[in-house]
Amino acid sequence: MTRVILVTSGKGGVGKTTLVSNLASALAGIGQDVIAMDANLTTPNLSLHLGVQLVPRTLHDVLRGEVNIKNSIYPHPLGFKIIPGSMNVNDLTGVDPSRLSQITTDLLGQSDFIIADCAAGLGREALTAMQSAEEVILITNPDLPSVVDGLKMINLAERSNKKILGVVLNRVGRKSHELKRYEVESMLDYPVIAEIPEDPNVSKAIAYKLPVVDYNPFSPASIEIKRLACWLTGIEFRYRTNRFRVLMQKLRNLFS
Ligand code: ADP
Ligand code: MG
Repeated sequence: MTRVILVTSGKGGVGKTTLVSNLASALAGIGQDVIAMDANLTTPNLSLHLGVQLVPRTLHDVLRGEVNIKNSIYPHPLGFKIIPGSMNVNDLTGVDPSRLSQITTDLLGQSDFIIADCAAGLGREALTAMQSAEEVILITNPDLPSVVDGLKMINLAERSNKKILGVVLNRVGRKSHELKRYEVESMLDYPVIAEIPEDPNVSKAIAYKLPVVDYNPFSPASIEIKRLACWLTGIEFRYRTNRFRVLMQKLRNLFS
């Protein structure tokens, strides 16, 4: 069964793309078959984070009805697959975001997980992305504006009958006056499922076009993202990945 999980936020710049690229790689690292999808149509940058550029067919071509979704899935060297968006602004012409739900339905059965990035906020683009997923992770920074904007996305997800897996607090420890975990939980009424610390390795990894879980697997942010990936799958989190178990899981997936 394919789980379609949307990573969303009320405010931009809180870490959605970072979380999607890293969750994709961390889940692949524990033997899961994953597709990372860039459903941020106006400002797609998942492929920038992952060093995938200049591909012939993107999600935009699919949303224009020119290409089948299965022809815009690319294998990434880190062991997952990616559906990139086009960074050419001209490619927005003729794009029909309402096709996104059908596209994710067509992908069911193609992988264990589809992890989707999307635009922030309550615009049409973010709303259609929300409709295309079954499960939602809200990511926010521990400050009042991002949490208050995040609450709007939670309300929207609830009204759309989505399963809200919980809240990821990102860039924890950056400011001395930030909101505490229990404050965020009581404001949003959902549990915090990960607290990703402020970590300079994150921006370094982005500069190298790598997920931080691969750039520096034992940095504080990497460890928390890998813990979250294990939580999502129910696999016991181990500080060091057992490469033999990963290989066995991949073989099992191959023959199941
Ligand atoms: P969004 O997709 O929500 O707009 P991004 O994932 O692009 O946000 O993140 C915005 C910036 O925040 C990134 O360029 C990165 O440098 C920084 N960032 C994200 N998470 C962290 C973190 N845990 N520690 C330090 N910097 C981070
Ligand atoms: Mg982004």
